Amino acid sequence: MEIPREIALRERRPTYSEINLTAFRHNFQLVRRLAGGAKVMGIVKADAYGHGLLEISRELEALNVDYIGVGFLEEGIALREAGINTPILVLGGVAGYQINSFLEYNLELTASSKFIASEIDRRARRMDKKAIVHLKIDTGMNRIGVNYQRAADFMRFAGGLANLIVKGIYTHLAAADSDPEFTKLQLNRFKDVIKSASAIFSPTPIFHVLNSAGLINFPEYCFDMVRTGIMLYGMVPSNSLLGRLDLKPVMSLKSEVVFLKRAAADEGISYDLTYRTKTDTQIVTIPIGYGDGYPVRLSDCGQALIGGKRYPVVGRVCMDQIMVDAGDAMVRIGEEVTLIGKQGDDCITVEEICSLTGAIPYEIPIGTTSRVPRLYIKDTITDEK
Ligand SMILES: *Cc1c(COP(=O)(O)O)cnc(C)c1O
Repeated sequence: MEIPREIALRERRPTYSEINLTAFRHNFQLVRRLAGGAKVMGIVKADAYGHGLLEISRELEALNVDYIGVGFLEEGIALREAGINTPILVLGGVAGYQINSFLEYNLELTASSKFIASEIDRRARRMDKKAIVHLKIDTGMNRIGVNYQRAADFMRFAGGLANLIVKGIYTHLAAADSDPEFTKLQLNRFKDVIKSASAIFSPTPIFHVLNSAGLINFPEYCFDMVRTGIMLYGMVPSNSLLGRLDLKPVMSLKSEVVFLKRAAADEGISYDLTYRTKTDTQIVTIPIGYGDGYPVRLSDCGQALIGGKRYPVVGRVCMDQIMVDAGDAMVRIGEEVTLIGKQGDDCITVEEICSLTGAIPYEIPIGTTSRVPRLYIKDTITDEK
């Protein structure tokens, strides 16, 4: 059974993720500035990339975000039931049987084919409602959407459905962080879509394309709205974009020393004894493991900050625990351990973990499981001018 976050938090487990809302705010304002006058959609799919769907959405609403984007219907319903009033677009594909719930909860749908558009129209008519849709055009990602070459026909078709309100038209970039050439091709294809749309719709819908990588590399293509996720959480989509913007990481992952001992030289540590102590040393045990989302791939290569210094994670990462070789450091039971984030003058970044494990940045915070309580903090870092 999943441990509800409320219990996880109440019971004050030594391991928790710290979510810095001041950093989030800072990143949001940076996105606002980059977007110029365009609207901003804050993406909160997958539990706000592991940062907490409701808490982050409330924060976005407090920041007057224009739109909230989620992946699936259920995420949108959770937000409506929690009292979020901001327009919500569900980015994923829609199954016919979900349409009624979309309309009941006032959620905007992605129409990615003629078939689903007419299905939405039919169900909306039966409920005597108008469905608000964003038409998805595929300009090269080949995931969902109507191929750009058939976009004009699709738009005319959707525009003619009486119970649809076409509020937006969008596409998604496949390689905005790695392939500027192809990205330009996608942007140009979308510009043609906009041209045809202008002849079909009056007033014209909201056109939106850029994700975080797109906004960092092609801020001149914001159109009417940008759809940013990862950068709001203070990360970049891939290490190639590191250092381009002053983003502040939002999540830290922290724990405590629960056990320590001296181990003699040439002792094996953890499952399969993959690590052997070189000398007599101090082995510290931390109550976090892959069951919390701490990657197994950090076995024998991760690091932990204790007392402001780095120590190696030794041996296999277990489900609930890891061991750290703290050498001759003065370590106390109950002392704070930072697995991701700042401690003293040092910082373990998500990017660093990605370099060690081959993960992409998205995976790391999203990977934290429901038994890791989240602690929301606001700190006093002053927003730079
Ligand atoms: C997830 C998603 C985004 C946000 O992507 P980031 O890289 O996190 O900024 C934007 N648009 C769509 C359609 C998405 O699925």
